[in-house]
Amino acid sequence: MLPQAVMKKAQKEFLDWQDLGVSVMEMSHRSKEFLALTAKCEASLRRLMNISDEYEVLFMHGGGRGQFSAVPLNLHQDGKTAVYCENGVWSKSATDEANKFTKTLSIDVRNDVNGEFSIKQVTNWVLPEDASYIHYCPNETVDGLEIFDVPSHPTAPIVADMSSTILSREIDVNKFDLIYAGAQKNIGPSGISIVIVRKTLLEREGLPKPGILDYALEAKQGSMFNTPPTFAWYLAAEVFEWLELNGGVKAMEVQNIAKAQLLYDFIDGSSFYTNKVAKHCRSRMNVPFWLNDESLNDKFVAQSKDAGLLALEGHRIVGGMRASIYNAMPIEGVQALVSFMDAFAKEHS
Ligand SMILES: *Cc1c(COP(=O)(O)O)cnc(C)c1O
Repeated sequence: MLPQAVMKKAQKEFLDWQDLGVSVMEMSHRSKEFLALTAKCEASLRRLMNISDEYEVLFMHGGGRGQFSAVPLNLHQDGKTAVYCENGVWSKSATDEANKFTKTLSIDVRNDVNGEFSIKQVTNWVLPEDASYIHYCPNETVDGLEIFDVPSHPTAPIVADMSSTILSREIDVNKFDLIYAGAQKNIGPSGISIVIVRKTLLEREGLPKPGILDYALEAKQGSMFNTPPTFAWYLAAEVFEWLELNGGVKAMEVQNIAKAQLLYDFIDGSSFYTNKVAKHCRSRMNVPFWLNDESLNDKFVAQSKDAGLLALEGHRIVGGMRASIYNAMPIEGVQALVSFMDAFAKEHS
Protein backbone atom coordinates (compact mmCIF):
# COMPACT_ATOMS: atom_id res chain seq x y z
CA MET A 1 0.00 0.00 0.00
CA LEU A 2 1.24 3.49 -0.87
CA PRO A 3 0.07 6.65 0.91
CA GLN A 4 -3.07 7.92 -0.78
CA ALA A 5 -1.87 11.52 -0.61
CA VAL A 6 1.18 10.54 -2.64
CA MET A 7 -0.88 8.65 -5.22
CA LYS A 8 -3.18 11.65 -5.63
CA LYS A 9 -0.29 14.07 -6.04
CA ALA A 10 1.30 11.75 -8.63
CA GLN A 11 -2.01 11.56 -10.46
CA LYS A 12 -2.27 15.33 -10.55
CA GLU A 13 1.28 15.68 -11.84
CA PHE A 14 1.11 12.72 -14.19
CA LEU A 15 0.98 14.65 -17.47
CA ASP A 16 2.69 17.83 -16.39
CA TRP A 17 5.41 17.78 -13.78
CA GLN A 18 6.60 21.09 -12.28
CA ASP A 19 4.92 23.03 -15.11
CA LEU A 20 7.45 21.64 -17.56
CA GLY A 21 4.73 20.37 -19.89
CA VAL A 22 5.93 16.76 -19.65
CA SER A 23 5.61 13.83 -17.27
CA VAL A 24 8.53 13.13 -14.95
CA MET A 25 8.77 9.82 -16.86
CA GLU A 26 9.49 11.70 -20.06
CA MET A 27 12.32 13.80 -18.66
CA SER A 28 15.99 13.06 -19.13
CA HIS A 29 17.39 11.57 -15.93
CA ARG A 30 20.28 13.96 -16.39
CA SER A 31 18.15 17.08 -16.66
CA LYS A 32 18.71 19.63 -13.91
CA GLU A 33 15.12 19.20 -12.71
CA PHE A 34 15.48 15.44 -12.26
CA LEU A 35 18.89 15.80 -10.62
CA ALA A 36 17.31 18.25 -8.18
CA LEU A 37 14.68 15.60 -7.41
CA THR A 38 17.31 12.93 -6.69
CA ALA A 39 19.27 15.30 -4.45
CA LYS A 40 16.12 16.18 -2.54
CA CYS A 41 15.21 12.50 -2.26
CA GLU A 42 18.57 11.55 -0.79
CA ALA A 43 18.60 14.50 1.62
CA SER A 44 15.15 13.53 2.81
CA LEU A 45 16.11 9.90 3.43
CA ARG A 46 19.25 11.03 5.24
CA ARG A 47 17.15 13.19 7.57
CA LEU A 48 14.53 10.49 8.11
CA MET A 49 17.08 7.84 9.06
CA ASN A 50 19.74 10.14 10.46
CA ILE A 51 22.38 8.84 8.03
CA SER A 52 25.84 10.33 8.57
CA ASP A 53 28.42 11.35 5.95
CA GLU A 54 30.24 8.10 6.58
CA TYR A 55 27.62 6.40 4.42
CA GLU A 56 26.87 6.48 0.74
CA VAL A 57 23.20 6.23 -0.27
CA LEU A 58 22.61 4.42 -3.57
CA PHE A 59 19.44 4.03 -5.61
CA MET A 60 19.78 0.84 -7.61
CA HIS A 61 17.86 -1.55 -9.84
CA GLY A 62 16.79 -5.10 -9.18
CA GLY A 63 14.82 -4.98 -5.92
CA GLY A 64 15.73 -7.01 -2.87
CA ARG A 65 16.90 -10.02 -4.83
CA GLY A 66 19.24 -7.88 -6.91
CA GLN A 67 20.97 -7.10 -3.62
CA PHE A 68 21.12 -10.80 -2.73
CA SER A 69 23.63 -10.95 -5.64
CA ALA A 70 25.20 -7.52 -5.19
CA VAL A 71 26.19 -8.09 -1.56
CA PRO A 72 28.47 -11.10 -2.14
CA LEU A 73 29.79 -9.66 -5.43
CA ASN A 74 30.88 -6.47 -3.68
CA LEU A 75 31.86 -7.74 -0.25
CA HIS A 76 33.54 -11.07 -1.04
CA GLN A 77 37.05 -11.46 0.33
CA ASP A 78 39.37 -14.23 -0.85
CA GLY A 79 39.79 -16.98 1.71
CA LYS A 80 37.02 -15.67 3.94
CA THR A 81 33.51 -16.95 4.57
CA ALA A 82 30.34 -14.91 4.42
CA VAL A 83 28.11 -15.66 7.39
CA TYR A 84 24.36 -15.83 6.79
CA CYS A 85 22.08 -15.83 9.82
CA GLU A 86 18.88 -17.63 8.91
CA ASN A 87 15.49 -17.07 10.47
CA GLY A 88 13.06 -17.61 7.63
CA VAL A 89 12.24 -17.65 3.95
CA TRP A 90 14.07 -14.49 2.84
CA SER A 91 17.29 -15.00 4.75
CA LYS A 92 17.43 -18.54 3.31
CA SER A 93 16.95 -17.16 -0.22
CA ALA A 94 19.74 -14.65 0.36
CA THR A 95 22.07 -17.48 1.40
CA ASP A 96 21.21 -19.58 -1.64
CA GLU A 97 21.99 -16.68 -3.94
CA ALA A 98 25.26 -15.78 -2.19
CA ASN A 99 26.36 -19.41 -2.46
CA LYS A 100 26.69 -18.98 -6.20
CA PHE A 101 29.43 -16.41 -5.71
CA THR A 102 31.21 -16.86 -2.40
CA LYS A 103 31.71 -19.40 0.36
CA THR A 104 28.94 -19.08 2.92
CA LEU A 105 28.27 -20.40 6.38
CA SER A 106 24.64 -20.43 7.45
CA ILE A 107 23.78 -20.09 11.10
CA ASP A 108 20.31 -21.00 12.28
CA VAL A 109 19.22 -18.25 14.66
CA ARG A 110 15.74 -19.64 15.24
CA ASN A 111 14.72 -21.07 18.50
CA ASP A 112 11.33 -22.69 17.93
CA VAL A 113 9.90 -24.37 21.01
CA ASN A 114 6.70 -26.45 21.17
CA GLY A 115 5.41 -25.15 17.87
CA GLU A 116 6.04 -21.53 18.87
CA PHE A 117 8.30 -19.70 16.41
CA SER A 118 11.06 -17.69 17.99
CA ILE A 119 14.51 -16.22 17.44
CA LYS A 120 17.51 -16.38 19.76
CA GLN A 121 18.61 -13.14 21.39
CA VAL A 122 21.27 -11.60 19.13
CA THR A 123 23.81 -11.77 21.95
CA ASN A 124 23.45 -15.57 21.86
CA TRP A 125 24.17 -15.92 18.17
CA VAL A 126 27.39 -17.89 17.80
CA LEU A 127 29.29 -16.03 15.09
CA PRO A 128 32.74 -17.14 13.92
CA GLU A 129 35.72 -14.92 14.74
CA ASP A 130 36.53 -14.15 11.14
CA ALA A 131 34.14 -13.51 8.28
CA SER A 132 33.93 -11.34 5.17
CA TYR A 133 30.58 -10.09 6.47
CA ILE A 134 27.55 -11.04 8.59
CA HIS A 135 24.21 -10.97 6.79
CA TYR A 136 20.81 -11.09 8.48
CA CYS A 137 17.20 -10.19 7.82
CA PRO A 138 15.65 -8.00 10.56
CA ASN A 139 12.10 -8.64 9.39
CA GLU A 140 11.12 -11.95 7.85
CA THR A 141 8.17 -10.87 5.73
CA VAL A 142 6.73 -14.34 5.10
CA ASP A 143 7.24 -15.80 8.58
CA GLY A 144 6.22 -12.67 10.49
CA LEU A 145 9.37 -12.64 12.65
CA GLU A 146 11.17 -9.42 13.53
CA ILE A 147 14.52 -8.90 15.24
CA PHE A 148 14.61 -5.61 17.14
CA ASP A 149 18.19 -5.78 18.44
CA VAL A 150 21.18 -5.51 16.12
CA PRO A 151 23.88 -8.18 16.14
CA SER A 152 27.47 -7.01 16.37
CA HIS A 153 30.85 -8.39 15.43
CA PRO A 154 34.34 -7.13 16.35
CA THR A 155 35.64 -7.10 12.76
CA ALA A 156 33.11 -8.23 10.17
CA PRO A 157 30.64 -5.75 8.65
CA ILE A 158 26.97 -6.17 9.53
CA VAL A 159 24.69 -6.35 6.49
CA ALA A 160 20.91 -6.16 6.85
CA ASP A 161 18.09 -6.89 4.41
CA MET A 162 15.58 -4.29 5.61
CA SER A 163 13.22 -4.64 2.64
CA SER A 164 10.13 -5.00 4.80
CA THR A 165 11.03 -2.98 7.89
CA ILE A 166 12.96 0.07 6.66
CA LEU A 167 11.40 3.33 7.91
CA SER A 168 8.88 1.48 10.10
CA ARG A 169 10.80 2.14 13.31
CA GLU A 170 13.80 4.13 14.47
CA ILE A 171 17.15 2.43 14.06
CA ASP A 172 20.72 3.51 14.67
CA VAL A 173 22.27 3.31 11.21
CA ASN A 174 25.75 3.48 12.78
CA LYS A 175 25.31 -0.07 14.06
CA PHE A 176 25.19 -1.31 10.47
CA ASP A 177 27.72 -1.32 7.66
CA LEU A 178 25.29 -2.00 4.86
CA ILE A 179 21.51 -1.73 4.78
CA TYR A 180 19.53 -2.57 1.70
CA ALA A 181 15.85 -2.64 0.86
CA GLY A 182 13.68 -3.26 -2.16
CA ALA A 183 11.30 -0.32 -2.41
CA GLN A 184 7.94 -1.97 -2.72
CA LYS A 185 7.06 -2.40 0.94
CA ASN A 186 7.66 0.91 2.71
CA ILE A 187 9.22 3.16 0.08
CA GLY A 188 7.40 3.18 -3.22
CA PRO A 189 6.64 1.00 -6.22
CA SER A 190 8.85 -1.94 -7.20
CA GLY A 191 11.77 -1.37 -9.52
CA ILE A 192 14.15 0.51 -7.27
CA SER A 193 16.18 -0.50 -4.26
CA ILE A 194 18.02 1.49 -1.68
CA VAL A 195 21.51 0.74 -0.42
CA ILE A 196 23.06 2.55 2.53
CA VAL A 197 26.69 1.54 2.65
CA ARG A 198 29.62 2.59 4.80
CA LYS A 199 32.04 4.38 2.49
CA THR A 200 35.04 2.35 3.65
CA LEU A 201 33.35 -0.80 2.30
CA LEU A 202 33.44 0.64 -1.22
CA GLU A 203 37.18 0.03 -1.22
CA ARG A 204 36.65 -3.72 -1.29
CA GLU A 205 37.40 -5.25 -4.64
CA GLY A 206 34.97 -8.15 -4.28
CA LEU A 207 34.41 -10.21 -7.41
CA PRO A 208 34.01 -9.32 -11.09
CA LYS A 209 30.45 -8.02 -11.34
CA PRO A 210 27.93 -6.40 -13.64
CA GLY A 211 28.28 -2.61 -13.62
CA ILE A 212 24.71 -2.13 -12.46
CA LEU A 213 25.46 -4.11 -9.26
CA ASP A 214 28.78 -2.38 -8.54
CA TYR A 215 28.49 -0.19 -5.41
CA ALA A 216 31.70 1.78 -5.96
CA LEU A 217 30.79 2.48 -9.58
CA GLU A 218 27.24 3.50 -8.71
CA ALA A 219 28.55 5.75 -5.93
CA LYS A 220 30.91 7.44 -8.38
CA GLN A 221 28.14 7.86 -10.94
CA GLY A 222 25.49 9.20 -8.55
CA SER A 223 23.45 6.01 -9.04
CA MET A 224 23.27 6.77 -12.76
CA PHE A 225 25.67 4.32 -14.34
CA ASN A 226 22.69 3.50 -16.54
CA THR A 227 19.24 5.00 -16.79
CA PRO A 228 17.62 4.65 -13.37
CA PRO A 229 13.92 3.79 -12.85
CA THR A 230 12.94 7.46 -12.83
CA PHE A 231 9.26 7.13 -12.01
CA ALA A 232 9.95 4.85 -9.04
CA TRP A 233 12.61 7.28 -7.84
CA TYR A 234 10.14 10.18 -8.12
CA LEU A 235 7.55 8.28 -6.10
CA ALA A 236 10.12 7.34 -3.46
CA ALA A 237 10.93 11.04 -3.09
CA GLU A 238 7.23 11.78 -2.67
CA VAL A 239 6.86 9.06 -0.02
CA PHE A 240 9.84 10.45 1.91
CA GLU A 241 8.31 13.91 1.81
CA TRP A 242 5.01 12.47 3.04
CA LEU A 243 6.85 10.74 5.89
CA GLU A 244 8.58 13.97 6.89
CA LEU A 245 5.30 15.90 6.81
CA ASN A 246 3.71 13.24 9.02
CA GLY A 247 6.19 13.24 11.87
CA GLY A 248 8.93 11.08 10.39
CA VAL A 249 9.98 7.61 11.44
CA LYS A 250 9.23 8.17 15.13
CA ALA A 251 5.58 8.92 14.39
CA MET A 252 5.39 5.91 12.07
CA GLU A 253 6.81 3.72 14.80
CA VAL A 254 4.20 4.87 17.32
CA GLN A 255 1.45 4.18 14.82
CA ASN A 256 2.93 0.84 13.74
CA ILE A 257 3.10 -0.33 17.36
CA ALA A 258 -0.55 0.61 17.86
CA LYS A 259 -1.63 -1.13 14.64
CA ALA A 260 0.25 -4.34 15.40
CA GLN A 261 -0.89 -4.39 19.02
CA LEU A 262 -4.53 -4.09 17.99
CA LEU A 263 -4.29 -7.07 15.67
CA TYR A 264 -2.16 -9.31 17.90
CA ASP A 265 -4.33 -8.59 20.94
CA PHE A 266 -7.42 -9.56 19.00
CA ILE A 267 -5.82 -12.79 17.71
CA ASP A 268 -4.50 -13.72 21.18
CA GLY A 269 -7.92 -13.16 22.69
CA SER A 270 -9.66 -15.32 20.11
CA SER A 271 -10.17 -19.08 20.15
CA PHE A 272 -10.84 -18.98 16.42
CA TYR A 273 -7.47 -17.58 15.21
CA THR A 274 -3.85 -18.26 16.21
CA ASN A 275 -0.50 -16.52 15.72
CA LYS A 276 2.41 -18.88 16.43
CA VAL A 277 5.20 -16.34 16.90
CA ALA A 278 6.76 -15.64 20.33
CA LYS A 279 5.79 -12.19 21.58
CA HIS A 280 9.31 -10.73 21.68
CA CYS A 281 9.88 -11.27 17.94
CA ARG A 282 6.50 -10.59 16.40
CA SER A 283 6.71 -8.52 13.25
CA ARG A 284 5.01 -5.12 13.29
CA MET A 285 4.75 -5.16 9.51
CA ASN A 286 3.57 -8.67 8.67
CA VAL A 287 1.12 -10.48 10.89
CA PRO A 288 0.58 -14.12 9.93
CA PHE A 289 -2.37 -15.91 11.47
CA TRP A 290 -4.13 -19.21 11.12
CA LEU A 291 -7.77 -20.13 11.31
CA ASN A 292 -7.98 -22.99 13.78
CA ASP A 293 -10.37 -24.64 11.32
CA GLU A 294 -8.34 -24.47 8.11
CA SER A 295 -11.23 -25.80 6.05
CA LEU A 296 -12.63 -22.26 6.29
CA ASN A 297 -9.58 -20.67 4.63
CA ASP A 298 -11.07 -20.28 1.15
CA LYS A 299 -14.24 -18.82 2.56
CA PHE A 300 -12.27 -16.38 4.73
CA VAL A 301 -10.24 -15.17 1.76
CA ALA A 302 -13.31 -14.79 -0.49
CA GLN A 303 -15.41 -12.97 2.11
CA SER A 304 -12.59 -10.66 3.20
CA LYS A 305 -12.04 -9.70 -0.43
CA ASP A 306 -15.73 -8.89 -0.77
CA ALA A 307 -15.38 -6.70 2.31
CA GLY A 308 -12.58 -4.74 0.59
CA LEU A 309 -9.79 -6.34 2.63
CA LEU A 310 -7.21 -7.44 0.08
CA ALA A 311 -4.16 -9.70 -0.06
CA LEU A 312 -4.78 -11.62 3.16
CA GLU A 313 -3.83 -15.04 1.84
CA GLY A 314 -0.62 -16.26 3.48
CA HIS A 315 2.51 -16.90 1.46
CA ARG A 316 2.29 -20.18 -0.48
CA ILE A 317 5.25 -21.56 1.49
CA VAL A 318 3.73 -21.20 4.96
CA GLY A 319 -0.03 -21.13 4.25
CA GLY A 320 -2.60 -19.57 6.56
CA MET A 321 -3.30 -15.83 6.37
CA ARG A 322 -1.07 -12.80 6.55
CA ALA A 323 -1.90 -9.14 7.07
CA SER A 324 0.82 -6.83 5.81
CA ILE A 325 0.38 -3.51 7.58
CA TYR A 326 3.13 -1.32 6.18
CA ASN A 327 3.59 2.38 6.97
CA ALA A 328 0.91 3.55 4.54
CA MET A 329 -1.79 1.35 6.07
CA PRO A 330 -3.82 3.58 8.40
CA ILE A 331 -5.04 2.24 11.75
CA GLU A 332 -8.58 2.32 10.32
CA GLY A 333 -7.50 -0.45 7.94
CA VAL A 334 -6.49 -2.65 10.87
CA GLN A 335 -9.70 -1.79 12.73
CA ALA A 336 -11.69 -2.86 9.67
CA LEU A 337 -9.77 -6.14 9.53
CA VAL A 338 -10.37 -6.87 13.21
CA SER A 339 -14.10 -6.16 12.83
CA PHE A 340 -14.28 -8.48 9.85
CA MET A 341 -12.35 -11.24 11.63
CA ASP A 342 -14.60 -10.92 14.67
CA ALA A 343 -17.78 -11.14 12.60
CA PHE A 344 -16.41 -14.08 10.58
CA ALA A 345 -15.51 -15.95 13.77
CA LYS A 346 -18.97 -15.37 15.27
CA GLU A 347 -20.65 -16.55 12.08
CA HIS A 348 -18.62 -19.78 12.01
CA SER A 349 -18.28 -20.74 15.67
C1 LIG B 1 10.15 -8.64 -0.58
C2 LIG B 1 11.44 -9.00 0.00
C3 LIG B 1 12.58 -9.32 -0.79
C4 LIG B 1 12.53 -9.46 -2.29
O1 LIG B 1 12.31 -8.33 -2.95
P1 LIG B 1 12.25 -8.30 -4.55
O2 LIG B 1 12.26 -6.85 -4.78
O3 LIG B 1 11.02 -9.01 -4.98
O4 LIG B 1 13.47 -8.96 -5.08
C5 LIG B 1 13.77 -9.58 -0.15
N1 LIG B 1 13.85 -9.56 1.18
C6 LIG B 1 12.79 -9.28 1.97
C7 LIG B 1 12.96 -9.28 3.45
C8 LIG B 1 11.55 -9.00 1.40
O5 LIG B 1 10.49 -8.73 2.19
